[in-house]
Amino acid sequence: MTQLNPFEISQIQLDECAEILKLDPNVKAILRVPMREMHLSLPVRMDDGNVRTFPAYRVQYNNARGPTKGGIRFHPDETIDTVRALAAWMTWKCALLNLPLGGGKGGVICNPKEMSEAELERLSRAYIQALHTFIGPDIDIPAPDVYTNPLIMACMMDEYSKIEGKSVFGVITGKPLCVGGSCGRQDATARGGCYTIREAAIELGMDLHNSKVAIQGFGNAGYYAASLGNALFDCKIVALSDSKGGIYNKEGLIPEAVYEHKAKTGSVINFPGSESITNEELLELDVDILIPAALENAITDKNAGNIKAKIVAELANGPTTPEADAILYKNGVHVIPDFLCNAGGVTVSYFEMVQNKYMYYWDEGAVHERLDRKMTESYHSTSHASKKYGINMRQAAYVVAVERVVEAMKHRCWI
Ligand code: GLU
Repeated sequence: MTQLNPFEISQIQLDECAEILKLDPNVKAILRVPMREMHLSLPVRMDDGNVRTFPAYRVQYNNARGPTKGGIRFHPDETIDTVRALAAWMTWKCALLNLPLGGGKGGVICNPKEMSEAELERLSRAYIQALHTFIGPDIDIPAPDVYTNPLIMACMMDEYSKIEGKSVFGVITGKPLCVGGSCGRQDATARGGCYTIREAAIELGMDLHNSKVAIQGFGNAGYYAASLGNALFDCKIVALSDSKGGIYNKEGLIPEAVYEHKAKTGSVINFPGSESITNEELLELDVDILIPAALENAITDKNAGNIKAKIVAELANGPTTPEADAILYKNGVHVIPDFLCNAGGVTVSYFEMVQNKYMYYWDEGAVHERLDRKMTESYHSTSHASKKYGINMRQAAYVVAVERVVEAMKHRCWI
């Protein structure tokens, strides 16, 4: 079978949900495609004096529940179908967390690892210049995602503000604290994921103390998951990886030390005292918890049968294919699906929007407590739907989210 692209995967997942909910085919037709998408070409002056044109996208998938919300990825392999899928997943994510927001996503085809800071700044500003009319605090609010960060968010906010002639902090989230960011946004994705792992462990009667954890990906989500796994639960992080390869130590790795090593050498590989493993080997290790925290399609029909973890906590977006899902479910692996597990990021982004509107900022304790409440509630709504319909956790998350979006569409008289 030819490999499905992420958008086709998201449509298969939605079709399954429509079947369970017996959705009207006309309603399903609305939900299967983005409501608006923009294709851009961004000319950027490079440091050598040449002008290069970067293809870029923004997809606003569905805004029935509120302004669209979702990150911007800078990645050489970005495609419109990836952005469409991610925008769809943002729609379901915001609905599942009961945030008054729709779903969107952006992407720029570029390799930030080969660009200077000045080039990245010009590219970020060009993206906002091209999109200015179509985004805004009440329209569509971008945020960080793969290979974008708070500094890029600050310069995008600044570009939007310059065009508007006033500071508009609420146009983007994930900003540094000094320009309208929120406490607790930096580790929010991982922290939210940890809260769902805690709830899953309680449900499964599992003790997290000294449990063995393997994490694929060492970006923002992967690093903080490792660090918080240690700090909150006293887990043993036995394996970590990045795009160059993985490392293993059965006694446990110290995430902060691995972070320093990566900052110095550019990768986690060759971390002193660890064994080298591949990304594929990491997924199949004999661990209690496996956290895919990199890109799409990591767990497929080829390796799903070899996964030994009791819990797969999907911090990445779209790491598991539909065939792999079926295998994991059959084998009794408890999957915490992506748009539940990684929803902490957008939840604190929503808190950031609220704080920007009110011009009144919360302390870290308030953010953590409110995030915990949101994640815990959403975990249990999902688990409840899974038991009620006898379906897996991903299908259950879809059922809860899609029902909410459909309800909003009904009340707006779209259907
Ligand atoms: N990019 C993150 C996600 O996939 C965060 C989105 C946001 O904060 O708007 O959920």
